[in-house]
Amino acid sequence: MADFDYDLFVIGAGSGGVRASRVSAAYGAKVAVAEEYRVGGTCVIRGCVPKKLLVYGAHFAEDLADARRFGWQVPECAFDWATLRDHVMAEVDRIETVYGQTLENNKVEVIRERATVTGPHSVALSGGRTVTAKHILIATGATPMVPTFPGSEHGITSNEVFGLPALPKRVVIAGGGYIANEFAGIFHEFGCRVTVVNRGDTILRGYDAQIRDRLLQISMSKGIDFRFNCTFESVEKRDDGTLVIRTAGDDPIEADMLLFATGRKPLTEGLGLETAGVVIDGNGAIKVDADNRTTCDSVYAVGDVTNRIQLTPVAIREGQAFADTVFGNKPRRVDYNNVPAAVFSHPPMAGVGLTESQARERLGSVKVFTSDFRAMKNVLAGRNERALYKMVVHPETDVVLGIHMIGPEAPEILQAAAVAVKAGLTKQAFDDTVALHPSMAEELVLMR
Ligand code: FAD
Repeated sequence: MADFDYDLFVIGAGSGGVRASRVSAAYGAKVAVAEEYRVGGTCVIRGCVPKKLLVYGAHFAEDLADARRFGWQVPECAFDWATLRDHVMAEVDRIETVYGQTLENNKVEVIRERATVTGPHSVALSGGRTVTAKHILIATGATPMVPTFPGSEHGITSNEVFGLPALPKRVVIAGGGYIANEFAGIFHEFGCRVTVVNRGDTILRGYDAQIRDRLLQISMSKGIDFRFNCTFESVEKRDDGTLVIRTAGDDPIEADMLLFATGRKPLTEGLGLETAGVVIDGNGAIKVDADNRTTCDSVYAVGDVTNRIQLTPVAIREGQAFADTVFGNKPRRVDYNNVPAAVFSHPPMAGVGLTESQARERLGSVKVFTSDFRAMKNVLAGRNERALYKMVVHPETDVVLGIHMIGPEAPEILQAAAVAVKAGLTKQAFDDTVALHPSMAEELVLMR
């Protein structure tokens, strides 16, 4: 230890970096973490947390309309973006402070500077200092990818979307992944005219086909426009601020905001990784082994920068496993099977385990059970929006391989069901469980 300034130097105070720093320090390591932007990282500052709060805010549009069918005399309501934005930002500030305090309480030194690697045990700080550490952990996350074409600089990304000065009337969203679909739902509920422009021919590639088709159908029936197989040619900004967005072979779209949700790439550029012999793959992701160790023995990496599964709970688990293994004398590896995930669209989707097509590819044949129903609340509200639950089951062992759903509260319901899938329970175990009535979740034990 005497030879190094720190036992552990962490670059990036996001989901993975904060967990690794805090737990390593609790094991007695001398730890510093460098953060160039804000403590909390993408999830807290400009990802999961503010996004979910906007989803809640947006859903009131439907709740207020539905309330009338339940007897509430709701007067004409108007939405004020600035109020929601400022409350969300204040909540983000609060969580950021809590994260900072947690690090301090655990005696982690927080250095609010950019850090770059200058060797297997040394890190340069943007303030000019160079420090040494026995171990370095890279937890720099990922950054939005923006396509380049004439005028693409007029678009914004999820980094900027939470702080919009005013609510745009017409929104174009580029992309077909979860972030694109979540923001399409959010802005649509706020009353914006939303067009989703997708390079491919499907949204949410990798999700269960029936579930994502249901989302597409509901989104379209609500009035969200989708353009598929559509590539950008140019964006022109008029004097009045209107963006004229030209795509190949389609009419131009006029919009007030263009949001790129076209993927995220690991943040490794300019990090100095080559000075320590840390190898990255073709996508810029740091190559690590099952213990999060890079090609340099003293350098580790966790979270989005390794591009395994880009989700906060995964980054946190990797940070925890790193600390337990390296400083806690409790070797631990992350199990990437049956990681649940959600899309906080309107209505939301959630899934765990194999999709039907993945299971068919692996096993040839599978048993599939579905429940296609209208939630009781939607029926009374006169909302013609059907939920769909789907269970993918091993044809011989009866083990549930995957559950996928779309409908109100799907992520809340799926988290509990994911325990059963992770535990390897059979369809019979679901059948043996008595329904909790009346609920939407009871459909999980009533699929025949
Ligand atoms: P990050 O949280 O990104 O943290 C990396 C940190 O490193 C950042 O604070 C950055 O400023 C800092 N940094 C980078 N380079 C340097 C440097 N050289 N020196 C110092 N500091 C540096 N995941 C979910 O599980 N659920 C969701 O609902 C969800 N929604 C999302 C919505 C959006 C709009 C986005 C963009 C992401 C969302 N995610 C969600 C993904 C989630 O935010 C990430 O998976 C998670 O934050 C990854 O954690 P991380 O520790 O790898 O990196």
